[in-house]
Amino acid sequence: FNTAQFGQHILKNPLVAQGIVDKANLRASDMVLEVGPGTGNLTVRILEKCKHTTAVEMDPRMAAELSKRVQGKPEQRKLDIIVGDFVKTELPYFDVCISNTPYQISSPLVFKLLSQRPIFRVAILMFQREFAMRLVARPGDNLWNRLSANVQLYAKVDHVMKVGRNNFRPPPLVESSVVRICPIDPPPPVAFAEFDGLTRILFSRKNKIVRSNFQSKGIEQMLESNYKAWCAQEEKLIPADFDMSQLLGQVLEESGFAESRASKMDVDDFLKLLTVFHKYGLHFA
Ligand code: SAM
Repeated sequence: FNTAQFGQHILKNPLVAQGIVDKANLRASDMVLEVGPGTGNLTVRILEKCKHTTAVEMDPRMAAELSKRVQGKPEQRKLDIIVGDFVKTELPYFDVCISNTPYQISSPLVFKLLSQRPIFRVAILMFQREFAMRLVARPGDNLWNRLSANVQLYAKVDHVMKVGRNNFRPPPLVESSVVRICPIDPPPPVAFAEFDGLTRILFSRKNKIVRSNFQSKGIEQMLESNYKAWCAQEEKLIPADFDMSQLLGQVLEESGFAESRASKMDVDDFLKLLTVFHKYGLHFA
């Protein structure tokens, strides 16, 4: 294990640690999930306010240190430590997630939390600044990208505080920010693979108009093969005069988004566009 590989930047500023935990507004009944507790600077503050915490830590030496820190204290029975990779760990039920995250798993971490059921109440997470700013970016912002749209499909995200590099030991190379993620409950009734398939195409060149981004043989072939699979599954006959290019053009015109640009479109726009594709049996996954 080494600090670079595991992103082991311990939060040394107690005011920042307390600030992060306070932002979660923990209730005495809360089940908390913490990712990467390290030596437990957030954990001990979480344990004061919650019913129970499960902490997932990959480095057994860190896990041992945390375990020692609560040993013999009343908080000990409120804490379960799972030693393992968060990405591969089956998660218990939780109301709130708090983490000074290992930055190398930022994206899988967010999507793993958002796919968890039942849906949690709130997550307070520290990320590297640029990743955090992408999570909160809005259409028209420079940083608005596929990550922004895919996350905001499922959650309201806001920026909570900036945290400078010097609050950590050792200091990371980049600045950090804390965000609050509140899942939308119930989540929109759309298959993530479909939404993601669409945003992948539209954000490949986000300043080009939608129609241009669809002008690709590869995309047409993908849509056509998915269409045929869908027809087979629905026991529909493929029309004799079926022409993928023509249908694609028709769908884009009907949607009203043919001339729009992903850089300026919001989650609702992507959902509306996707609905028109689905109306004609066109799927992205
Ligand atoms: N929470 C502590 C703090 O704020 O001082 C430490 C945060 S440090 C940025 C990230 C922690 O996540 C480290 O303890 C590291 O060992 C752990 N970690 C790294 N990759 C992990 C993974 N895939 N699953 C679980 N924990 C991981």
